Amino acid sequence: MCCELKRRFLLLYATQKGQAKAIAEEIWQQAGAHGLEADMHCISEMDKYNLETEKDPVVIVISTTGTGDPPDTARKFVKKIQDKTLPPDHFAHLQYGLLGLGDSEYMFFCNGGRTVDRRLQELGAQHFYDTGLADDCVGLELVVDPWIDGLWVALKEALQLQKEKEGMNSAVDAVSSSISTAHAVHELKLSSEVQNLKLEDEGTRASDTLSRKLDDINPVAPARDTEPSLVHSVPPVSQSALNIPALPPEYIEVEFQDTQGENPHLSSLISEGTTFEVPVTKAVQLTREDAIKTALLLELDIADTAFEYQPGDAFSIICPNNVSEVEELLHILGLSEKGDDFVCVKVKQGTKKKGASRPQHIPERSTLKFILTWCLEIRAIPKKAFLRALVECTSDTGEKRRLQELCSRQGASDYTHFIRDSNVCLLDLLHAFPSCKPSLSLLIEHLPKLQARSYSVSSSNLYQPGRLHFVFNVVEFPASPSRPVSRKGVCTGWLSELVAPLLHPSKNSVDTKGESSSTEKISIFVRPSNAFHLPADPSVPFIMVGPGTGISPFIGFLQHRQKLREQHTDWEFGETWLFFGCRHQDRDYLFKQLQCFLENGTLTHLKVCFSRDSSTAEVAPPKYVQDILRLCAKEVARVLLKERGYFYVCGDKKHMADDVSDAVVDILSREMETDKLEAMKILAMLREAKRYLLDVWS
Ligand code: FAD
Repeated sequence: MCCELKRRFLLLYATQKGQAKAIAEEIWQQAGAHGLEADMHCISEMDKYNLETEKDPVVIVISTTGTGDPPDTARKFVKKIQDKTLPPDHFAHLQYGLLGLGDSEYMFFCNGGRTVDRRLQELGAQHFYDTGLADDCVGLELVVDPWIDGLWVALKEALQLQKEKEGMNSAVDAVSSSISTAHAVHELKLSSEVQNLKLEDEGTRASDTLSRKLDDINPVAPARDTEPSLVHSVPPVSQSALNIPALPPEYIEVEFQDTQGENPHLSSLISEGTTFEVPVTKAVQLTREDAIKTALLLELDIADTAFEYQPGDAFSIICPNNVSEVEELLHILGLSEKGDDFVCVKVKQGTKKKGASRPQHIPERSTLKFILTWCLEIRAIPKKAFLRALVECTSDTGEKRRLQELCSRQGASDYTHFIRDSNVCLLDLLHAFPSCKPSLSLLIEHLPKLQARSYSVSSSNLYQPGRLHFVFNVVEFPASPSRPVSRKGVCTGWLSELVAPLLHPSKNSVDTKGESSSTEKISIFVRPSNAFHLPADPSVPFIMVGPGTGISPFIGFLQHRQKLREQHTDWEFGETWLFFGCRHQDRDYLFKQLQCFLENGTLTHLKVCFSRDSSTAEVAPPKYVQDILRLCAKEVARVLLKERGYFYVCGDKKHMADDVSDAVVDILSREMETDKLEAMKILAMLREAKRYLLDVWS
């Protein structure tokens, strides 16, 4: 009994989109093979664990959301541990290991994990294992897999230490030897299986460690192919014995029902608050046909709703998957005739998955088409566990072997190259591996929730009451060797099709009064408010930096400011600066009406640059926003330092935001005649004071 207890560790996950949860579940699953028992909880379930009294080691898997925030599920927890009255030895009894997930495309990489890690350290908790920071930009598994591999030995040592502390040395020996024996036996088993498998052909077995004989692989590609591809491998991968992940236990069953009814309302798919179904009343193409990207502005009629916003807010759109992709999937699943049939989704009786429950984003009862259209991110890049499960649904031996390779340790770089970096989705795989016929329940088990997409508001409720504008680029993914068809972004592709009948080319003005009548409606909901708002005091000056569609929230700022100036002629208004850039002045110069703001005094300074226009000038004009910022160094420093102004950056690339912050550091260090480190500290202070604000997306 005592030994049983001491095999336990507490496993907490804080997830936004399900990745951290999936990784925690993998840890939970692997724990058994190492003679350990994970007591797993979402970090928000604070009634189910108690860190204040926790004696066993704690493992935390936590992702990052927004601009470096912990996931919503961790908010309460973070608030609790950030209580300034906690003494520095509050968690002195705690041993923990933390795995942070993030994306280096964003500023403040892994900041959710870092925040929790830092605070636990401040409160005296000890690391029993080094913190891992996994980067979704290059592939989470590059850090996650080795981190989990190393976790078991570290946990064993932590448990041992814990026991020693409790003065139970004799019990420790027993546990320790049982664990290390289990561990050693497991390792031995794995390696001997690999050895055995090298010698025998075990193409059909579904064990954790699989290998096929070297000479019967890959009928998918002709033998003369020397280059690897999605469907074809070359040595050494093609000749290796493979370590593949354990087969995830099945836990969902579906039952088709021969009944009529209604699908759930879209609002039931959202846990973040009320949804509003609003008509699209206007669509303007802001870029010329020959521009590299197509930028659209849409107007929504929110007059008859309780939807409220401030300039600088963002909101989310519930978007469906592409209709033809859904049809294609139905066809491949052999369920074309059943698209409109109702499906009842339940947890499989007797499943081996711990705490199995129906995914929250799947209704208990809805039509098959509803699930594939509104609930599952069918474009998601399949995870290795999904590939592992797909092996079992594939009849062709060559295809089976390639799928095994792609989820194996030996095939890790093929996975990164041909799946992850190529943004291959389930449909691409099913085309490439035609004998793979997964079931609907497998898709429900492995495909993540179709996420709503967020957009920054590009209007002011004062300037046009009852209307909401937003601007986006239609995301385009060209065809590639792994994916023979080109695609558009899920949401932006859908929106662009939806509004095509409304569309009329921009006359470089969004103030076109004529309104097209539309019956198209979309469902939106408020995104929790952020700090990206106009300064509360209108006399404070501010600087806006927004290349491309990054200008979007600043249009809202300026509209709002224009109205305030009209309504309050006695108020004092600070100066306003806008740094805007795009590729070509005549092709995608968004919002030429910025000139109007300049003429009526709303905008004090407008600085623009065009990165791809050629120039005959002797001194080349600045190309990027950071270049024009540097040209205005004195003014920027004056606004920020002397006048305690605000600095806003908005755009769609991490690199732009980094380049802008580098430029600001240079400006501060030059104008204050101080070194770079000092300038960086000042920038950090501005961030802390919420006077340097970011709204950056990728
Ligand atoms: P998706 O289908 O989700 O694809 C987008 C990304 O998926 C790509 O960037 C790429 O990384 C990956 N991807 C998927 N498939 C492929 C493939 N086959 N090849 C290559 N890459 C692939 N966007 C705006 O345009 N304007 C805004 O004002 C705006 N504001 C935002 C505010 C916030 C707070 C946030 C979080 C995001 C904002 N965004 C904004 C981004 C927006 O939410 C969407 O991410 C964007 O519009 C793309 O959505 P999509 O569904 O069309 O593309």
